[in-house]
Amino acid sequence: MRDKRVIFLADCQSFYASVEKASHPEFQHQPVVVAGDPARRSGVILAACPLAKQQGVKTAERLGEALAKCPGLVVIKPRMQRYIEISQMITEIFQCYTDMVEPYSIDEQFMDVTGSLHLYGSPQELASQIQQRLLMETGIYTRFGISETKVLAKMACDNYAKKNDSGIYSLPVANLPETLWKLPIHQLFMAGSRMTAHFHAMGLPTIGDLARTPLPRLKEMMRRRFGKNSDINAELYWRIANGVDNSPVTPGTHEVAPKSVGHMMTLPRDYALLEEIKVIVLELTELVCQRCRGMGYMGQTVSVSCLGADYENMSGFSRQAKLMDPTNVTNQIYHAAVQLLERHWDGRPVRRVGVSLSGLTDDSEYQISLFEDPSRERSRALERTTDRLKARFGDSVILRAVSLAGNGQAVDRAAKIGGHYK
Ligand SMILES: [Mg+2]
Repeated sequence: MRDKRVIFLADCQSFYASVEKASHPEFQHQPVVVAGDPARRSGVILAACPLAKQQGVKTAERLGEALAKCPGLVVIKPRMQRYIEISQMITEIFQCYTDMVEPYSIDEQFMDVTGSLHLYGSPQELASQIQQRLLMETGIYTRFGISETKVLAKMACDNYAKKNDSGIYSLPVANLPETLWKLPIHQLFMAGSRMTAHFHAMGLPTIGDLARTPLPRLKEMMRRRFGKNSDINAELYWRIANGVDNSPVTPGTHEVAPKSVGHMMTLPRDYALLEEIKVIVLELTELVCQRCRGMGYMGQTVSVSCLGADYENMSGFSRQAKLMDPTNVTNQIYHAAVQLLERHWDGRPVRRVGVSLSGLTDDSEYQISLFEDPSRERSRALERTTDRLKARFGDSVILRAVSLAGNGQAVDRAAKIGGHYK
């Protein structure tokens, strides 16, 4: 066992937008965003390509605000299943270099290359080689933070590799005093705005100020602010600032099932008729089931919520029902969702509708029950086929932002042909 590890954190630039630009070369020189709901100006920007960012477009802002700044924006609706597939493809490329690859999020992965580095030269050379290969094979530009621990590799990427020309930065523990420790405390991993304010109030404006405070002293300072249960947090921040992190890169740690899959939609106006609310419930159910099938899950608990527009004076309901067996078949879940709606809706106007499925299990473990309706296997097969068609021809729902301006409903309807938003 070597005492010094070499760990990479690889982060894909503007991941969703980069995936879309790679599959649409015609948009290569245009500002592109992926937005939660391209048919509505209230949709949220999930990812913006560097060209869009240059024009002031920001992640998480409303589509309407982005269009005001950048009228030529190309707006693409998200294809989560595709992004998950590309993320897995990138994991497989990394696995050509080491078997120790740990996805940290959909667009960030850790690799421990300690054992294989001797085959490739220096850590920078290896990172550069992988960076070029990813660009060639996926069209996605990836930045690399390099260090001896995961937490330092992460901070090397966020604070340096994302800002330099090569997109690669090595941050050895030995260099911390001249590098990381000079940075303001808000650049510390895990330090949110609330914690940053506390650190400032504690007289620790830089990462170095925190790192150089002896741990027992830091615990004392934090106890005075947060009570005696803050020792664990004191130690956590102190370790991050000093780059002390023994946690191994563990393949497969993040393959845990999500707790639920759900969608919520804010309607353009109040809906007051049961029939029109049912249409929305069907659309949302379809989305939820499509995502579950894409990820290989079934669920047993269906939840529906319908909320009024007045946030001050909340109306509506949120209820759930447990099914006999787990499923990801749209019709079965829709049936349960409509029962909930009919039972609990009080007839008051509805502005937000949500459907979710929880109690998730792996659908590969699904066993055909003796008592099962034989049509169910047929519907499963049919839905798998339509999902594949949608994945393949989903591009037709890309809309030019210019054609979205004004004219809301007609475009909305066009966008819905053959599918649903999101
Ligand atoms: Mg990223």
